[in-house]
Amino acid sequence: MHEFAVVEGIVKAVLEEADKHKATSIKEVYVEIGDLAFLNSAQVIFAFNTLKKDTLLANAQLLIANIEAQVRCKECGYTGAMEPEKGEEHHFATPFIICPECNGPVDILTGRQCTVRNVRLTVDDDEEEKESE
Ligand SMILES: [Zn+2]
Repeated sequence: MHEFAVVEGIVKAVLEEADKHKATSIKEVYVEIGDLAFLNSAQVIFAFNTLKKDTLLANAQLLIANIEAQVRCKECGYTGAMEPEKGEEHHFATPFIICPECNGPVDILTGRQCTVRNVRLTVDDDEEEKESE
């Protein structure tokens, strides 16, 4: 499953980060998922809850923020959101995305990311916020 592979990467990255900070546990993991990452939030949480067992993440909560996709048209220069209804069909591996103004080809500016924005760690009972880019 797509979500499992992605979450596996997130869990690995967070555990490495926790190790660097000598964390004793991880409380929260805050991730941003773009509309065009084609990840189902419920599946992501399910994968996270499965993969976190027996790790520092065992008691961690996963917080997900959905990021709206932004595109720029190569033809007319339109920059902004996609047509919402075009985002409904999530069955395609490579979605066909067109400009809502002129149906021209577009560049995707944002919306494909799946990034860890913030991790809340516990280091010897002191809470520490870690911003990651
Ligand atoms: Zn256009």
